[in-house]
Amino acid sequence: MSKLFRGKTCVYCAGEGVSSTGDHVFAREFFPVERRGELPKVAACAPCNNAKSKLEHYLTTVLPFGGRLDVSSQILNEMVPRRLAKNAKLHKELAANQGSLLIHRGGMVERAMTVPIEANQLQGLFRFIVRGLIAHHWATIIPASYAVGAGLLTEAGEQIVAPMLQKNGRARANGSVGGGIFEYAGVQAVDDPSLTVWCFKIYGGVTLGGDPGASLEATPRVWAISSREPLPEIFGNDDDPNVA
Ligand SMILES: [Zn+2]
Repeated sequence: MSKLFRGKTCVYCAGEGVSSTGDHVFAREFFPVERRGELPKVAACAPCNNAKSKLEHYLTTVLPFGGRLDVSSQILNEMVPRRLAKNAKLHKELAANQGSLLIHRGGMVERAMTVPIEANQLQGLFRFIVRGLIAHHWATIIPASYAVGAGLLTEAGEQIVAPMLQKNGRARANGSVGGGIFEYAGVQAVDDPSLTVWCFKIYGGVTLGGDPGASLEATPRVWAISSREPLPEIFGNDDDPNVA
């Protein structure tokens, strides 16, 4: 075990001296084996690492269904069946709730498969990812008391968050991980290094479902904010959105 990540502050819970492992901010299981080099790694304590792993197990199985990159079909073919075989309950849930919706892509309307995704699990994982990226890029540990919100934004929410991302900040981060499987941009506020805004694209953009008859113009993204204050309700409603 590398000493680099032991006995340091856990970037996820801000516990001092408690880290016991180097955690990949983006779990290796999101990527095909040949795309796992150079993933950002941060110091984490065992309880945070375990809690994050549970969320990753679910989301590395479900999110590839919503992807638009060719590599998401590779993952669906090569990796997801094994994960589903190990998790009969999740397999049943996905099969029972599959649907389809119309999406606009390159001027064409296509019918895409939708699967349910548990919004609270997506939010939970991005709470970890954002804290990890802030530590990785800016060596800032977000205080445990701060709120981190994340989710698939509604169009209305996107109009609120997009201008925030354009503001002048103390620092910016841009990343493309695993050959574009995760793409992100983040900005750190001038007066508070722990106030940050993020935008993520996963597998080329996961398509929000929900209303089977609805068609979507935009490619939905995942947005996240870390803030001293509780966050406004801009991350969509509490119903589980679907990804297509
Ligand atoms: Zn921790």
